[in-house]
Amino acid sequence: MKDVVVVGAGPAGCSAAKDLAEKGYDVVVYEKRQEIGSPKRCGEGLSSTAVKELDLDIPDNCKTQSINGALVYSPNGENVTIDLDETVGWVLERKMFDKWMARRASEAGATIRAKANVVDLLPDNRGVVVNIDGNKRKVESSVVIGAGGVEAPVTRMAGIKKSSNLQLVDSGYQYEMTNLELRDENKLELYFGKDIAPRGYVWVFPKGENKANVGIGIGGDDDRTAKYYLDRFIDKSDRFKNASIVEVNSGMIPVGGFLDNMVSDNFVSVGDAANQVNPIHGGGIREGIRAGKIASDVISGALSMGDTSCSNLEEYNKIWWKTRGKALKKVENLREVMEDLDDDDLNYLARELRGDDLMAFTRGETLSKLGKLLLKRPKMIKSARKLI
Ligand SMILES: Cc1cc2nc3c(=O)[nH]c(=O)nc-3n(C[C@H](O)[C@H](O)[C@H](O)COP(=O)(O)OP(=O)(O)OC[C@H]3O[C@@H](n4cnc5c(N)ncnc54)[C@H](O)[C@@H]3O)c2cc1C
Repeated sequence: MKDVVVVGAGPAGCSAAKDLAEKGYDVVVYEKRQEIGSPKRCGEGLSSTAVKELDLDIPDNCKTQSINGALVYSPNGENVTIDLDETVGWVLERKMFDKWMARRASEAGATIRAKANVVDLLPDNRGVVVNIDGNKRKVESSVVIGAGGVEAPVTRMAGIKKSSNLQLVDSGYQYEMTNLELRDENKLELYFGKDIAPRGYVWVFPKGENKANVGIGIGGDDDRTAKYYLDRFIDKSDRFKNASIVEVNSGMIPVGGFLDNMVSDNFVSVGDAANQVNPIHGGGIREGIRAGKIASDVISGALSMGDTSCSNLEEYNKIWWKTRGKALKKVENLREVMEDLDDDDLNYLARELRGDDLMAFTRGETLSKLGKLLLKRPKMIKSARKLI
């Protein structure tokens, strides 16, 4: 009998596993893929604020490029440059980073098992049925953590209502490319426009000299595929004409629809499985790790009281909403307003805003400044009021 079974060895699951193991609990993490972190479903961007806040001492071999700003392009090609004198983030190598997260959890005392597919929950969520090499076996536990990513198979099995509304997910597609021309090796590039990436953006995240993740996220309910828009973007620019594709990635990104309830009896859901992603840029590494930490504190408290019922685990909902949910909800409002902007509005905002404004907006801060600018666009008045 384990104290905790974690389903999924992504950043969220490994974060929870490490913290619980450090507190002395007997933890096992099952990961269905044969290699943790691969293939990635990620642009691999992580900010230095996140690294500091989460106390991550990331080894150099998990980072491919330091970032000191961004080039943000409006539909007419004008750009807002964010140029800072310091490193504000990195483009990671997820297959190294995720393995490092797993190694930390293992060194703290958790057991990690790759190629172990959790196929069912035991009654009352008191453990799982895991398929390892074709052999199904029951593993009992006091608590199960659902950290299975956006598809959230086990979270759904636990009866947690996770919407499948296509408006609340973005569809992501990405090529890792080599031999392309980068505009600036230390800057993220972001391209906006209804015709370029409806409801989303195209990104070029540098991974060292002439290498980058070139990807796109668009509304999940678009008539065309994300691949269609990304290929069109690439075909239009000479800078990709000698480039090669060394990896293809795709995946869904929850961009809102935060869950009021993420727990059930003996069960807690974390990370993408609980829609814990920043709705404006789709970043989920930071949110997942943070949620893993919150979950480990609440679960540890519940285990020590000998009561892991839903009502005791609800503390996790409360803490998450207070520390993250409220701010992310504002960012979700911003995403909804962004959906109403046409290319003219985006060009206008690119003229009026500075780089640090954009960074603050993604954190859900100073949104009233954006609201006030939009009040000057008659058709945007209704949307603008949501931000003031
Ligand atoms: C195209 C794209 C680009 C992105 N770019 C960024 C970015 O630049 N920066 C950023 O911060 N975020 C980005 N994200 C989001 C980020 O990748 C996720 O938010 C993050 O990986 C979530 O971590 P997680 O641990 O919750 O889930 P995951 O990393 O998805 O891990 C879940 C794990 O659970 C495993 N699993 C699932 N079901 C089972 C099962 N039944 N049994 C055992 N194991 C199971 C899966 O195999 C997987 O390894 C991007 C996402 C996409 C799709």
